[in-house]
Amino acid sequence: MDATAQGEKVLIQANVGDERRTDGFVYIKHFSPPERMSQALKKLALFWGIALVSVLIPVFHFVTVPLFFFLGLFFARRTYKSEGRVLSGETRCPHCQTEVKVKPAELQWPITEICQNCARVVRIERI
Ligand SMILES: [Zn+2]
Repeated sequence: MDATAQGEKVLIQANVGDERRTDGFVYIKHFSPPERMSQALKKLALFWGIALVSVLIPVFHFVTVPLFFFLGLFFARRTYKSEGRVLSGETRCPHCQTEVKVKPAELQWPITEICQNCARVVRIERI
């Protein structure tokens, strides 16, 4: 299944915390509520799976089991609240004009990427 084919193109503007702006775009896949629920449950299953396996680690399991249990709840909740996924994207660094690629990630506006050239944090916002 080609995920990029289902993405919606969204125009964005990038900034580095000042008045300079550059244009760009991101491809976003929006999740419907049932999809978000299933994504969240998958994440929960993953973390609780790790929690279960870490029961076998002597001594440390007192820490790791509750840790992964709560991390699971935390990330599952975040996934459920997320509107979708960023598939890919492209813009330019407003400071040095270097091309900035947006990596696939959970969608949380604003998206932030680090410029590979000047190491500035590029904030990507929906227009
Ligand atoms: Zn830069």
